[in-house]
Amino acid sequence: MTLADFPRYPLLFGPSPVHPLERLTAHLGGAKVWAKREDVNSGIAFGGNKTRKLEYLVADALAQGADTLISIGGVQSNHTRQVAAAAARAGLKAVLVQESWVDWNDPMYDKVGNIQLSRILGADIQMVEAGFGVGFKESWENAVKEIEAGGGKPYAIPAGGSDHRLGGLGFANWMVELEAQEAELGVFFDTVVVCSVTGSTQAGMVAGAALSGKPRRILGIDGSAKPAETRDQVTRIARATAALIGAGEIGEVELDERYHAGIYGIPEESTLDAIRTLARLEGVLTDPVYEGKSMAGLIDLVARGEISRDSNVLFAHLGGQPALNGYTSVL
Ligand SMILES: *Cc1c(COP(=O)(O)O)cnc(C)c1O
Repeated sequence: MTLADFPRYPLLFGPSPVHPLERLTAHLGGAKVWAKREDVNSGIAFGGNKTRKLEYLVADALAQGADTLISIGGVQSNHTRQVAAAAARAGLKAVLVQESWVDWNDPMYDKVGNIQLSRILGADIQMVEAGFGVGFKESWENAVKEIEAGGGKPYAIPAGGSDHRLGGLGFANWMVELEAQEAELGVFFDTVVVCSVTGSTQAGMVAGAALSGKPRRILGIDGSAKPAETRDQVTRIARATAALIGAGEIGEVELDERYHAGIYGIPEESTLDAIRTLARLEGVLTDPVYEGKSMAGLIDLVARGEISRDSNVLFAHLGGQPALNGYTSVL
């Protein structure tokens, strides 16, 4: 089967926009920086990278006759909010297991932002006490059993839509889409900067690059603060996805561990600086959990010369701004 043969349930507007960040580029004084915008990729509940992955998972759920999408994430999970929206769009129910992945005491943290949106979208939200992890969880398995006991047909989507047979397809196709946009624009991005946590975003890109055989640096910025696990997961999903779509050997999986602030979900000063810098130079918003960290990485790596001054860099903006409402005590 080729990548184009996998059915997709349409959730995106079409190819996500690619545009230069001219004032950020001037500010950095080298390396031309552009963005590809998954934060505006869909008309469904603010979109984001999970919406792109979910096109394949929702098609599979419908083909299997499922009536309920079930997934898991932290209280301010962008992923579960996108599952809630995709379920609504496809006429399915959504059950969301929301765990306490982040020790953050902002007033209203468990009421505003993503969790508020998921409630408006009609998802059945189950709050549970459990720490951060990207694997399959007991609370999640219990919720699956509950749906089955009630006569429902659940379709299980792991954290971030990642550890799933089809989880890497969305961003393998992102790479195909990017190559067409590059041809149209007459540019080639030698470096892609992407935030990595559950891994299938970066993994999909790596598999997509193996498909075309066009080598480029796909630089993951770890946001999990468990980089060894994340690197393993990215590598495993990239290999499995490459095999699934008939691509060749995957390239190197590069994951930078310097910008995760020591803990998932909590920003450090460089994260907050990056959020303000991008906002004030470009009017573009990023969040303190993911994109603020990958932008902090991009800015610092250009300053250090680890991304060279003659580089064309693409910042993969993966969304996540609704979580900003949960971080009023620092922003
Ligand atoms: C989930 C998410 C990521 C990380 O993507 P993974 O596929 O989990 O590695 C990055 N940024 C945002 C905004 C996200 O919601």
